[in-house]
Amino acid sequence: MEKKLFGTNGIRFIPKEFSDLEFVLAVSESIGTYFRDGEVLVGRDGRLSSKAIANVVSSGLMSSGVDVADAGLLPTPALQFGVRDLGFKGGVMITASHNPPQYNGLKVVGSNGVEIPRNEEAKIEEIYFSKKAKKAKWKDVGTRREETSIIKRYVEDIIGQVQFEKIRKRTFKVVMDLGNGAQCVAAPYVAEELGCKVITLNSTVDGNFPGRGPEPIPEVLGSLSKAVVACGADFGVAYDGDGDRAIFCDEKGRIIWGDQSGALLSDYISSRENNVTIVTPISTSQVIEIVAKRRHAKVVRTRVGSVDVSDTMIRLGAIVGFEENGGFIYAPHIPVRDGAMATALVLDLLSSTKKKLSEEIDSRIPRFYQQKTKVAVMKEKAQKIVEEIEKRVEGKIEKVDGLKIWLDSSTWVLVRPSGTEPIIRIFAESNSRKKVQSALARFVKMVEKLK
Ligand code: MG
Repeated sequence: MEKKLFGTNGIRFIPKEFSDLEFVLAVSESIGTYFRDGEVLVGRDGRLSSKAIANVVSSGLMSSGVDVADAGLLPTPALQFGVRDLGFKGGVMITASHNPPQYNGLKVVGSNGVEIPRNEEAKIEEIYFSKKAKKAKWKDVGTRREETSIIKRYVEDIIGQVQFEKIRKRTFKVVMDLGNGAQCVAAPYVAEELGCKVITLNSTVDGNFPGRGPEPIPEVLGSLSKAVVACGADFGVAYDGDGDRAIFCDEKGRIIWGDQSGALLSDYISSRENNVTIVTPISTSQVIEIVAKRRHAKVVRTRVGSVDVSDTMIRLGAIVGFEENGGFIYAPHIPVRDGAMATALVLDLLSSTKKKLSEEIDSRIPRFYQQKTKVAVMKEKAQKIVEEIEKRVEGKIEKVDGLKIWLDSSTWVLVRPSGTEPIIRIFAESNSRKKVQSALARFVKMVEKLK
């Protein structure tokens, strides 16, 4: 079986015992060996285990002969921005993003600030599994220093990307549900600098995530909705644990899922600029094609995963990308997901119109229905099942990642084997709720029968 360290988003694990720190040390020596020399920026989220792991990661990097600059606690996109802005050889972020408190993980970032692509991850895996990590001679062991300027630079760059005076004049009122996560140290300052009145929820960094947990899903955002309405705010926003995803809520308290906010911001940016290319995974809503057509913008679909979106954006020189989970990418800042940048862009959009956020959504974004589910299958069988389904269906098929079948001009089903778990994921979308339900049921039945 193929040996792997990296999943869809870096290396994830549950630290329990001392031996896990040995694992982290060995992986970090492999990462250091991969970078070979130079200085690497290390940052961490606010998880209980992150500080200890950051120290071990720094040790592993130094032991392989690489120098370390420690950025301390900051959002993942701030670390990524810092790597590129200050010209580091690379970066390592200690985070498990939106996973439950007991998890942690490592993200490896290249000199351009983007997570290293799959083929580069494979090089680190090869060093690790073949035990080829370098141990530096005593006189070549790396050094460590603190680097405390990143958050300030990150906030300033975001503010520089939007219409500062225009936004400040409006003194928007914003409720931020920081979810005890890493954006506690950055996003409120972005909004304040932009002249907003900021009301915060769950605004202390806490690795137990006692507020509403680290993942901003609609079921846990009730208090955000209520606070937005009660305060008469212009909108609300909630971030995930490491601050790269942002889910918005309009002034009526309605949660706007990432498909809609992504399409809205893409629409806004396409209205200002010519020949915009928008990059998004195969699984996001068809809303984006409708919006893009109106603006003469181009949509490029990728495999599921933010790294694929970032890599494609860089390759095509695209300025906009997004995921349905609230990961929005604005390349002029940095071509990675960034919750605080997305927030500044919503402020920019609202400053350019007299309309409220709910009116913007309702007038620009058509309504579709979506549903998803998963079926447990043996990992070895998943691909075969997808091939069998392909033989049994009619209609337009897209094979960017799994099998996307168009049942009619506005109804599709995506059947996709998970990259990490023994399951097949099934998504359906349509302009009719009934059609979504029947399409999902039909394909669940088909997978069950074939497994
Ligand atoms: Mg995240």
